[in-house]
Amino acid sequence: VNRILFEKNEIVADVARCADERAEHIVKVLHGEVGQLLKTGEVDGRIGTGVITGIAGDGAKTPYVVTVRFTHETESIAPWVDVILAPPRPRVMKRLLPQLAAMGVGRIALVGAEKVEKDFWGATLLKEENYRPLLVDGLMQSGTSILPRIECWKSFRRFLREGLADFAASENRIVAHPYGAGQSSPVVREGRLTLAIGPEGGWTDAEVEALEQAGFARYSLGPRILRTDTATIALLARLMEV
Ligand code: SAH
Repeated sequence: VNRILFEKNEIVADVARCADERAEHIVKVLHGEVGQLLKTGEVDGRIGTGVITGIAGDGAKTPYVVTVRFTHETESIAPWVDVILAPPRPRVMKRLLPQLAAMGVGRIALVGAEKVEKDFWGATLLKEENYRPLLVDGLMQSGTSILPRIECWKSFRRFLREGLADFAASENRIVAHPYGAGQSSPVVREGRLTLAIGPEGGWTDAEVEALEQAGFARYSLGPRILRTDTATIALLARLMEV
């Protein structure tokens, strides 16, 4: 990973201690030693540099315990895109979530499109204590710290009526759909984007039309139908530099 993040409640007077995978990573992968500098940050806060002030344990009988003192001199990198996702199976979601965090997604609205499997909404992955570590992993990978917010809208129609208003203005709304007269390169203006990605069974015609009504421009990556996670990453990669 490229930055070690600590939760706010782990930091007391600029000193944080960890005894979990982060400590193991600092010692084994980063070959950390006392006095060495580390990229650090606070989940949902500022980022900066820390100095290792203590290493205890042997990683076998007793876990490594690493103490770091840090400064948070820099604002974190702000998210640039929000995603409306008709969720795939939890197995796929689990792979996708860290990558969304790493790629700079700020908000993830999970919406109940027609072809979303109904039992998805009972998935244990939807509990914050289960998805949060996946998102933090993605942030540590990319070296950022702003935690994506996940919201659930079981009713797609209700989301369109009530949830969409505070997403990007219509010129920056894109719906990914392999079929029909989609643009091959979306016209985006300055500012934050919103990208809508369909369920594993695809958007229905009515759903694509409703999104178009709400200002979304269709965007196709071509005739190859990609799995949700591949499509999402390919789409973000295409849009990322604008
Ligand atoms: N069987 C479905 C496949 C859906 S793939 C169908 O026929 O529509 C899941 C989602 O990934 C799609 O709804 C779309 O948002 C995105 N996606 C997959 N391949 C894509 C492509 N070639 N272009 C644009 N979006 C794509």
